[in-house]
Amino acid sequence: MTREIIKALFFPFAICFISFIWGEVFSFSVAFYLGFFVLLIHSFIQAWFKIHLLSNLKKDDLIGQKRGFGIWRDIYDQLEKKSKIWRQAVLQSEVQYNKFLQGIQASPNGLIMLDEIDHIEWCNNICRDHFRLDPLRDVGQPVTFLLRNPQFVSYMQAREFTRPLHLDFMGDQGSLMLMLQIFPYGENRKLLLSQDITILKKNESMRQDFVANVSHELRTPLTVVSGFLETLRDLKISKLDQKRYVDLMFAQTSRMMTLVEELLILTRLDSSPLTSKTTKVHIEELFEKLLLDAKSLSQDKHVIEVNCPLKMDILGSESEILSAFSNLIVNAIRYTPEGGKIIFEWKAEASGAVFSVKDSGIGIAPEHLPRITERFYRVDRSRSRDTGGTGLGLAIVKHVASRHNAVLKIESELGVGSTFLIHFPKDRLVEVD
Ligand code: ADP
Repeated sequence: MTREIIKALFFPFAICFISFIWGEVFSFSVAFYLGFFVLLIHSFIQAWFKIHLLSNLKKDDLIGQKRGFGIWRDIYDQLEKKSKIWRQAVLQSEVQYNKFLQGIQASPNGLIMLDEIDHIEWCNNICRDHFRLDPLRDVGQPVTFLLRNPQFVSYMQAREFTRPLHLDFMGDQGSLMLMLQIFPYGENRKLLLSQDITILKKNESMRQDFVANVSHELRTPLTVVSGFLETLRDLKISKLDQKRYVDLMFAQTSRMMTLVEELLILTRLDSSPLTSKTTKVHIEELFEKLLLDAKSLSQDKHVIEVNCPLKMDILGSESEILSAFSNLIVNAIRYTPEGGKIIFEWKAEASGAVFSVKDSGIGIAPEHLPRITERFYRVDRSRSRDTGGTGLGLAIVKHVASRHNAVLKIESELGVGSTFLIHFPKDRLVEVD
């Protein structure tokens, strides 16, 4: 600091000193005028530098400006140093701000910042999909002016933001279900969060349907069994009728057992990862077993043909493949009237290999095909039940296929017959040893 004081005062003191010496040696009046003149010029120069600094400060850029001499050079050096630090700080906070914005933009949730009077201050890109808002154009607009949904308007008016609001038919196609909630912050400002809960809601309704279906499937045989038990307990009936009732109860309980077993299979398939590619499923042996089972189920009421020209095995789970293939064959027998023909084949195709079951049965109308692999979906509920079906077979087949990177395809014509095909990719096949 002392250095700066010396620098600032050196020149005026030097002039005063020289003038004084001059006055002592020569003449005081000449020394006074000369000193006064030089100091005046010095003040002008100082004033000029002050004005110059002020105009440079207004330009917001001190770097590279003329910096004068003496104390002015120091002032400029200091200002330039500070200016660099500020600029660095501004750049850093800009980088931070952009990172923060990118983070918010990456969020799958919609985010709207509202001011004290519910005008949009900022919103992220997801709001385009959720509310058709434009993050640039719509800033400054009242939120209820753009989101005119009556439920939302009353939610905003009620000012009761502790509970979320559920809105249906949102988004461009009106296919989204959104959960909205407002979080007040700062001075009467609000943060509006929107979450797409379409899948969540669908899963919830699938879960409810599933529970309802299972309960319904179990209630029917249970009602039958309890009815027979009541009859056996309360009425005196012949030995022959007793046996008939017990047989019927036995059929119902085995139906329930099949249902529970298939449900357990589905749960297992759901929760385990893809099958490994280390175990071989020997197709020829599998076909022998499938043919024996098919013949015993058909009891010679159908013509059953097997065609297995491909000498390739599958890499995957033997029990799952057996269950999928036999489900398709059992269905073919169940839904093909007596005298019909069933062919199951294993052959090569360009993308790998295909297992197919073709029948000349009742066929499936085109409107049922998209839903046929859903759990408990049946074209004819009573017919399926009569044949011992649970409505889970094709769901299992589809699951097993996808766990082997394979795809289930169905071709069917009502009254003509159906073909169920499972297409396996090459990397799931291996040469027979
Ligand atoms: P289910 O146990 O009722 O047979 P699936 O899931 O195996 O259940 O089949 C679902 C529905 O698909 C059946 O109820 C039936 O209506 C229809 N279906 C399945 N396979 C055939 C087939 N080969 N021919 C005609 N309809 C079939």
